[in-house]
Amino acid sequence: MGVGTYLETDAEGATSVPGVWAAGNVTDLRAQVLASAAAAAWTAVVINNHLMAEELAADLAAYRAPRSLTGARSTGA
Ligand SMILES: Cc1cc2nc3c(=O)[nH]c(=O)nc-3n(C[C@H](O)[C@H](O)[C@H](O)COP(=O)(O)OP(=O)(O)OC[C@H]3O[C@@H](n4cnc5c(N)ncnc54)[C@H](O)[C@@H]3O)c2cc1C
Repeated sequence: MGVGTYLETDAEGATSVPGVWAAGNVTDLRAQVLASAAAAAWTAVVINNHLMAEELAADLAAYRAPRSLTGARSTGA
């Protein structure tokens, strides 16, 4: 007899949908409170790392983007 359905995730809690993570009983039907909480804590760290990486990538892209030379004189040409 089945006990229910659950979401497939990788070892870091990522689902097949980009940007969606899951942890706890929704991913592991046998997990009790301690295992569910531990998985959720780890998944939270992974989510935080992804958010920081996204922010860093955006900052780097902005930093590396060509800029106008503020204060540069026009040659009039
Ligand atoms: C009868 C019973 C006895 C248990 N006894 C023990 C025990 O003695 N010791 C032990 O360690 N573990 C026990 N467990 C297991 C424990 O309850 C779970 O491991 C734990 O609650 C899992 O936590 P979770 O946060 O993953 O899920 P849950 O605690 O189930 O939290 C999920 C939450 O999401 C909410 N939710 C669901 N769908 C939606 C939705 N669409 N939108 C918004 N919210 C939604 C639910 O209402 C719920 O509040 C027991 C479980 C049962 C059923």
